[in-house]
Amino acid sequence: MTPRGYSRPPAAGQGLRLHLNEHTGGCSTDVVEALSRLSPEEIARYPEYADTTARVAAHLGVGPERVLLTNGLDEGILVAALAWLGGCTGPKAVVIVEPAFELYDLYADALGARIDRVPPREDFSFPEEQVLAAISPVTRLVFLTSPNNPTGQLIPRSAIRAVLDRVPRGALVFLDEAYSDFAGESFLDEAAAYPQLVIGRTFAKAYGLAGLRLGALVGAPETLAPLRRVIPPYSVNVGALAAVEAAIADPDHRRRYLAESAASKRLLYAACRRWGAEYWPSAANFVLIRIGPRVREIVAALAARGIYIRDRSDAPGCEGCVRITAGRLDETRRVIAALEELLCGAP
Ligand SMILES: *Cc1c(COP(=O)(O)O)cnc(C)c1O
Repeated sequence: MTPRGYSRPPAAGQGLRLHLNEHTGGCSTDVVEALSRLSPEEIARYPEYADTTARVAAHLGVGPERVLLTNGLDEGILVAALAWLGGCTGPKAVVIVEPAFELYDLYADALGARIDRVPPREDFSFPEEQVLAAISPVTRLVFLTSPNNPTGQLIPRSAIRAVLDRVPRGALVFLDEAYSDFAGESFLDEAAAYPQLVIGRTFAKAYGLAGLRLGALVGAPETLAPLRRVIPPYSVNVGALAAVEAAIADPDHRRRYLAESAASKRLLYAACRRWGAEYWPSAANFVLIRIGPRVREIVAALAARGIYIRDRSDAPGCEGCVRITAGRLDETRRVIAALEELLCGAP
């Protein structure tokens, strides 16, 4: 099976953007002020980021030697794949648990790895036995995502430990925690016990910095070393560095948004129950909903009204499903009203 790759969604412009799990409330205004304070000289220089790395590490509760800042978590995934799969001749395999974030199989395939896919369970709970069975002596990399995108499901800690204990020597487990802020749950506090683990975080989702691109990888210094060797030396820009410091320093902005996102999820769940649509309670800032056979038509009809949601119906186990970002309450009410009209023919 060839990888599906990343299908860039159509430009949504100023429409209602509920298709990319962005922070729909906008970043903290402190971030905008920090950006406006950047001097011409600072912008003219290549960025130095030891200080910001230390600040991010403290924020995550780990030592600075355990953190690598990246140009978005996307770059973190790329350099992990490059470091673990590039230049490795002989059989190499990557384990991907479906449905999964699209970039894992894109990079694994580009680097010549075999992809061992674990199909989803009906309820999207983590298929621990099947994942353990998919790990083989040639496994080099295992991608885990908690909460998962697009299902919103958390992986139990016991299952993460079991995978870490099962991988062969020299293999890497990449735990993508892009949405862990929304879940209030992270494996970071156990990470130090596992040199075969890298945890990926991003400031795109809960901190509203998607447009500036900033991610962080956390792992043992010896595990991050091969990633440091291949990552471009100045991939994180001065704007992102100034922004993340201001964003970290404004926890109220984050707290308010997490609460609003949770309330939006409850509105979406209630709407699904009214419509009789299947949904999966989500630990992230989006909800996967089974719209059914009309999914393409409905996504297109919403887009025609300037409301963008993500058609995930081609992902394994997600037949007829859309993924809707749960952010601002007023926007959630708008998408629910529009969907209600399309699904139930309300005026
Ligand atoms: C959004 C997302 C990312 C990418 O985050 P960026 O920091 O914007 O590159 C990585 N992994 C998952 C699962 C995501 O949903």
